[in-house]
Amino acid sequence: MNTVLELKHVSRSYGREPQAVHALRDLDVRLYACSFTAVVGPSGSGKSTFLQCAAGLDQPTAGTVRLAGQEISAMGERELTRLRRGRIGFVFQSFNLLPALTVQENVLLPLRLDGKRRDPARARRMLARVGLDGREDARPGELSGGQQQRVAIARALVTEPDIVFADEPTGSLDQETAAEVLGLLREAVSSHGATVVVVTHDPAVAAQADRVLRLAEGRLVADTVRAPV
Ligand code: ADP
Repeated sequence: MNTVLELKHVSRSYGREPQAVHALRDLDVRLYACSFTAVVGPSGSGKSTFLQCAAGLDQPTAGTVRLAGQEISAMGERELTRLRRGRIGFVFQSFNLLPALTVQENVLLPLRLDGKRRDPARARRMLARVGLDGREDARPGELSGGQQQRVAIARALVTEPDIVFADEPTGSLDQETAAEVLGLLREAVSSHGATVVVVTHDPAVAAQADRVLRLAEGRLVADTVRAPV
């Protein structure tokens, strides 16, 4: 199995002793290509900090993070920005689409920011994959929450990233819409070979994952791999 992401002895603390908060404590995790992983745990257990460190949005206090063999925990901000744009996809609870841009422009944004060719046919293909063909020229405000999250998923996948991080992607959606969005993330893994990590409170999301990592007080307390169905 190909390792996409490797965290070795990763700790992240805030503040100074004796008042320091240890958000992550000596975490060792390997994530493999073409897998759907859920990260669960109670509020304050370190899920967001895990995501931030794993995605190069924050630097661990100790330990190393490698993405596709490259040590991102040693990179400077410019290099990290380039890496995030080109090789990591993000999906957020609040969709984070740009309201003034069309759906198609939103999907192509990561390529534009990365100075790559913006290919409308590619955007259309991505939108068709998430069931939004024909909505290229709509603005996000004209779409439902579920549709906006579909646009965000198309945007996250458009660069064919090494890994997609989703932070509570179903948190703002009703149950039925959440299941559809979840199905799309699953399909990105099973049909298109994506590697997806979802941070979630939602047991329905965890139930769909190939692997569930449970955090408590900044430690990995359970690592469950589901048997293939
Ligand atoms: P979760 O996502 O599971 O709710 P977090 O990763 O947000 O957990 O937080 C883990 C711990 O780190 C919590 O105790 C939280 O209060 C603390 N923490 C997170 N970010 C900061 C910060 N910027 N400054 C100080 N403490 C923080």
